[in-house]
Amino acid sequence: MAIELSKIVQQMEPSATLAMSARAKELKASGETVYNLSVGEPDFNTPEHICQAAIDAMRAGHTRYTVASGIPELKKAVVANYKKTHGLEYPFTSCVVSNGAKHAIHNSLFCTLNPGDEVIIPAPYWVSYAELVKLSGAIPVIVQTKESNNFKITPEEFKAAITPKTRMFLLCTPSNPTGNIYSGEELGQLADIVLQHNIFVLADEIYENLVYGDNKFVSFPTVREGLQDRVIVINGVSKTYAMTGWRVGWALAPENVAKKMGALQSQETSNPCSVSQYAALAAIQGDQSCVAKMVAEFAKRRDYVEERIANIKGMSCPKMGGAFYAFVNIKEYLGREYAGKMINTDTEWCLELLSQKKVATVMGSAFGAPGYFRASFATSMENIKEAFDRIEEFIA
Ligand code: PMP
Ligand code: GLU
Repeated sequence: MAIELSKIVQQMEPSATLAMSARAKELKASGETVYNLSVGEPDFNTPEHICQAAIDAMRAGHTRYTVASGIPELKKAVVANYKKTHGLEYPFTSCVVSNGAKHAIHNSLFCTLNPGDEVIIPAPYWVSYAELVKLSGAIPVIVQTKESNNFKITPEEFKAAITPKTRMFLLCTPSNPTGNIYSGEELGQLADIVLQHNIFVLADEIYENLVYGDNKFVSFPTVREGLQDRVIVINGVSKTYAMTGWRVGWALAPENVAKKMGALQSQETSNPCSVSQYAALAAIQGDQSCVAKMVAEFAKRRDYVEERIANIKGMSCPKMGGAFYAFVNIKEYLGREYAGKMINTDTEWCLELLSQKKVATVMGSAFGAPGYFRASFATSMENIKEAFDRIEEFIA
């Protein structure tokens, strides 16, 4: 007799970004050359001084359990860095270090939501948000934003989605998957609405440091007085320092929430990897020129991708202020035949692009926005160039 799965996991979808990346890896393992624009993972190696700090940590015997919510040195470095960059002070006990930002998001939701609570999420949204909200028993309320407004939620759209059950607003800036960035003024307008209602905010700021040109990142709790008690800020080292595999992220939360998240981790995972925590500490406290170098390279790729998309008739993509994704409108290219095969949806389009041209992307539907695909430019310029040449051949 087969074991029956729990009701809560029966309705859970696997991560589409990781699924597309796994497909690309499988194809590659079978001997194909694959141009992988699917997963959002920097192609750079973790900077040498960070790796060295991990080796030093092992040698110094930091190979045992740490406090479940993370080593105090790292929490202190996170809050000191936040104060230096954004001017707001947090006690170090407000910081909980988790196994990546994804885990920090899950635990934040799990510790604050009850079954039936509504969470407002502007679409296009990062694939895991809706699933993680559902895993917490709460209900994702998806608000469609407009491409003509750079996929930013307007105060009117936000207000219209609020009901007596609304408990949380989930915002990602700079955004995965659209690359948009909210200005301080835009965040202020949304914050006013938050403060007028009994709502709190999960602000995913993992792309804080990957910002291009004149764009400026503003951290949500800083835009109005009184937000610190209402906002959980999520961040981590995966993107900024090319440390996706090390699994270190964190939440900066009101102390009562942080305390419970620590207790949850003590039952659930214990501490995040001890050695990785020391590596993350070195990343935050060390020389930041490695970040500037990576950002400069991402900026070049962003310009290139923007130009390629602008030159494809019928495709469009809003200006990307940060992160490393292009979110491309392909509605004109659906309902057509490709090498004799009819393609009606963005999912079919992405799968066929992979099968015919060996270019891996992620379907817009996975981000709550059918009719688009997402291309990550966290891969080499050569890969990006070849991938776009192939996309052009595909649609021709
Ligand atoms: N938030 C966003 C918006 C992301 O794109 C990602 C991608 N990994 C995460 C959180 C999770 O990051 P981590 O690798 O630290 O779990
Ligand atoms: N966040 C990245 C992405 O969206 C990595 C994969 C994942 O964690 O979903 O592609």
